[in-house]
Amino acid sequence: MIQVQAYAAHSVKEPLAPFQFQRREPGPRDVLIDIHYCGVCHSDIHQVRDEWGGATFPMVPGHEIVGVVAQVGSQVTRFKVGDAVGVGCFVDSCRECSSCHEGLEQYCEKGANFTYNGVEKDGKTATQGGYSTQIVVDEKYTLRIPPQLPLDGAAPLLCAGITLYSPLKHWKAGPGKKVAILGLGGLGHMGVKLARAMGAEVTVLSHSMKKEGDSRRLGAHHFYSTSDAETFNQLSGSFDLILNTVSVNLDWDQYVNLLRRDGTLVLLGIPEKQVPVSAFPLVGARRSIAGSMIGGIAENQEMLDFCGKHGITSDIELIQIQKINEAYERVLRSDVRYRFVIDIQSLKKSN
Ligand code: NAP
Ligand code: ZN
Ligand code: ZN
Repeated sequence: MIQVQAYAAHSVKEPLAPFQFQRREPGPRDVLIDIHYCGVCHSDIHQVRDEWGGATFPMVPGHEIVGVVAQVGSQVTRFKVGDAVGVGCFVDSCRECSSCHEGLEQYCEKGANFTYNGVEKDGKTATQGGYSTQIVVDEKYTLRIPPQLPLDGAAPLLCAGITLYSPLKHWKAGPGKKVAILGLGGLGHMGVKLARAMGAEVTVLSHSMKKEGDSRRLGAHHFYSTSDAETFNQLSGSFDLILNTVSVNLDWDQYVNLLRRDGTLVLLGIPEKQVPVSAFPLVGARRSIAGSMIGGIAENQEMLDFCGKHGITSDIELIQIQKINEAYERVLRSDVRYRFVIDIQSLKKSN
């Protein structure tokens, strides 16, 4: 077994603290990865606080993992020691259902093996995430980081990047399409960069005016505050696609009204409570409300290659692991520009 240093949540109420555990020895198809950086996703906070239910402890969060291959199993063909690699939100899936066959492993009908707060393929060992020094993953679920991208800025692509890339592709964002990104946080700022690179006309809808300057710098053409009621009159019937990255409760009807005929409001953030939706604004203009979750392995690689080609990474604030609990509080206050990334070197001095 491989001894790993980490930070874990031990219960819903306690702050994250140093933790040690063991990972399996790499099998024939596994790669052992020395983790260099791990992004801090808002989903990490939802899960350590058990806001989605079913949390298991101790929990080592982290699913925006980048590092370097340290060892490969005897049958590994796609990677060699020294390669820059990434691991996203899941580390395996059933490989047999129609979703897995279609490269949509995130929607595996038996449930993908999520990177943490889940179980390994053996059905019993708890998966543990990237706030740790090393991880062992089947090469099929390991991604290649384009050499031109810095590893720290690339880490958030593994969740924030793919979560926006996948719906932008699915709903055909591109030249002639008007796309709104609702919420300029970790997910939202990647959405602006990706939609702009795909050629869409991009609008940011933010809950204050504070991020207006940033929004333009990130590539948005337009910026509006949703705390100004006039925004909803002015933009009525404007967008082909709205990607909602906000998890606080919003009045979805207000946003449906911002769609053009045949437009789609895609939910990415998940509010805790149910939200009522009126039929008329949907029926009257053939609009849709949809949801989307991360992306499959092939699409993750496509996204990373797209980012390599366009020089896209996340705007990050690099932190030491010892600052993780403070970082969570700042994410909750929307006080991060735009993603915390943990320098995993710092773990080596904490245990
Ligand atoms: P984040 O960095 O915290 O961003 C959320 C944004 O929501 C904030 O930056 C803020 O942007 C906006 N917001 C609107 N009203 C707010 C309020 N009252 N208080 C605080 N923020 C408010 O989070 P994230 O990492 O991007 O994740 C966003 C959500 O997506 C989370 O719920 C996460 O679990 C979920 N998620 C879903 C998937 C998926 O596959 N569907 C994947 C990853 C994460 P403004 O200041 O611009 O309003
Ligand atoms: Zn995430
Ligand atoms: Zn499956």
